[in-house]
Amino acid sequence: MIEIVDAKFITSAPNIAEAPESLEQNEVVFMARSNVGKSSLLNALTNHKGLAKVSSTPGKTRLINYFDVTFIDRENEQKSISKFVDLPGFGYAKVSKSMKHNWEKNLTDYIAQREQIKLFIHLIDCRHPHLDIDTQVSEFLFDNVKENQYILQIFTKIDKLNQKEQSALRKEFPHAMMVSSAKKRGMKKAIKIIYDILQEQEDTLLDES
Ligand code: GDP
Repeated sequence: MIEIVDAKFITSAPNIAEAPESLEQNEVVFMARSNVGKSSLLNALTNHKGLAKVSSTPGKTRLINYFDVTFIDRENEQKSISKFVDLPGFGYAKVSKSMKHNWEKNLTDYIAQREQIKLFIHLIDCRHPHLDIDTQVSEFLFDNVKENQYILQIFTKIDKLNQKEQSALRKEFPHAMMVSSAKKRGMKKAIKIIYDILQEQEDTLLDES
């Protein structure tokens, strides 16, 4: 079994130029519209209530937040460290146009240029699976990820759907994951998938040496 045993805030950066230096490709980026449940998911995955701030004023923070996250494989007690990257929520209507434009440029630069990113996690509210802005983000990711990078779609707040609605969503998005941070559903599976994707890169490195 794979667990996250430690998670701590490292730093905030306003743009890619000020992102922490790193030689490793071990970053997992979390991106979502404001209020989709990104902070709640980060806290639930890491079992750390105050790690990411669950905000009552969505869209306020415009910083990229970095966390060091320690995974452990319980089969051999081996630990590995990854960085979780909390990107500012996008699509918040109540910011000025110029601020929105600047930030969007920042985000697209970041995604296209930050080579340390191994996995992009795009969170979508399960009750609104077809919003234009999410489709645009999906397409942008698809067009911009490099060969050694992955995309994972995760539907949040799955406790808000009944069984029938959940089945329909699963059928429509067979490769996506579904979670509920509130009910702690899908956490172990999400941790395992993230870990496996990160490991794949380490295994490749070992093969090359
Ligand atoms: P963020 O803006 O994407 O970081 O979203 P937050 O984590 O701050 O959550 C936004 C709102 O959705 C808060 O009121 C949370 O309590 C609520 N929320 C987050 N995750 C869940 C969930 O799994 N189920 C339900 N029902 N509500 C959730």
